[in-house]
Formats: sequence, structure tokens, C-alpha cells
Amino acid sequence: MTKPPPFKDTDKIKVLLWCERHCCICDKPCDTNIIIHHIEQESENLDDIRNAIPLCFDCHGKIKNYNTKHPWGTSYKVAEIKARRDQIYEKYTRHLVPPIHCEVTQIIRNNRNILRAFPNVGFNLDHNGIVFLPVKVRVETKIILRGKDKGPIDDKHGYYNGNSLWHLNPTTRIFGNFNLPEFCSQNNDDLKFEVKLTVVDQYEREHPHLPLCWTYVRKNNYWFLEPRSFAKWT
Ligand SMILES: [Zn+2]
Repeated sequence: MTKPPPFKDTDKIKVLLWCERHCCICDKPCDTNIIIHHIEQESENLDDIRNAIPLCFDCHGKIKNYNTKHPWGTSYKVAEIKARRDQIYEKYTRHLVPPIHCEVTQIIRNNRNILRAFPNVGFNLDHNGIVFLPVKVRVETKIILRGKDKGPIDDKHGYYNGNSLWHLNPTTRIFGNFNLPEFCSQNNDDLKFEVKLTVVDQYEREHPHLPLCWTYVRKNNYWFLEPRSFAKWT
């Protein structure tokens, strides 16, 4: 078996920060006794950061040398190793993620007496942490008309299709707005709007939130929040 290509130095630093140099199987603090292991040994993109896992020497030996000819106990599977690693990353980075409030609304925050005229829609994003650090947020959207996915907001700045990251310092409140496309206002069909946020912490680890879905009530020009998602998110 050929040796997999090494990870980039910048990626090695990131994964060591994400686990604070703890083993991503047994959670032992490792200091310098840590190996950045390739989870999959024979596939495409072996040097991708998603294929890396920091391990102590013991766990590295157990994962690498499990004897499939004489199985004893239960070996680690790739999906389990990745999930366990992500648990450890989350343990050591979740304090970097502030409470974020997101709202789709026709109400104009600084003038509650005037509602936005549809298809103009307000979008508010708040960093609600005082003692937290700044973060960047990826905002992805989906228009769902009559149950059909019509894709994201067409936005050349990339704010609503995931191409630009929103910068949120502690207690920053951003009042955004966008125009839904013409086909959303031409009929009385069921219109939903979904938003998926991904918080990117200071060390570039991504923390995906659950998608949020709002349904538009045309008669009264307001949106209500659904307790589930209707879109297919990858
Ligand atoms: Zn270990």
C-alpha cells in the first residue's frame, strides 16, 4: 500500500486547534505525542482535511493494526471514526459559537408601523453573545413554491446563497433585506422560505445549524416559523 499524501500544514494546525491536542478517539490530552492519521487510506482526496483525525499513539495502533483475520471485539468503522472525531472537535470548539438569532420578517425594526411591501422581505441576523468572540456566518436560502424547491435568492453579492460570509462581532445586529423573484408574487400559491446558517468560528471550524423554515401568509403580509424543514439540504 502506498503512503497517502500528507495534509497541508495549515490544515494540520487547524485540526490540532479544533481538538486542543486531545486524541479524537479516547479524548486523552496528547501534547506532542499526537499523530494526524488518514482515516481512509485508499480513496480520492486523501489529503482533504475531512480525512484527518488527530490520534494518540495507542488509538492509532488500535485503528491501524486491527486484525481482521482474527477479529476480537468490535473494530472501528470509518463512519464511526468520523462521527467520534466530530464529537471531540465540537467539545473543544463549541464555546467559540455564540447564540445567533435569525429572523425572516416584513417588520422594519426601526419603524414597526410600516411593513415591507412584498416581494421585499426583511432578514435580521444577530450575534447575541456578549462574552463570545466574533464569528463569520454562511447564509444559504431556498425558495419553496407549491412544495417545489426553486433554489436560493439570486444575489450577486453572495449574502443569501452562501458565497459571502457575514461578519458578526459580539452584539452585532444586521438588518438585511432582499427581493424575492417575480414568480413568488404572481399567484396565491403556498410560499415557504428556508434559511440554513453555518457558523464559522475563529479557527475556521464550521458549525451547521438546523435549517429554519418560514411560511408566508399573503393576506396579512407576515411570515410564521415552522417547527420543521421542507427542503432537501445536502
Ligand atoms: Zn487515544
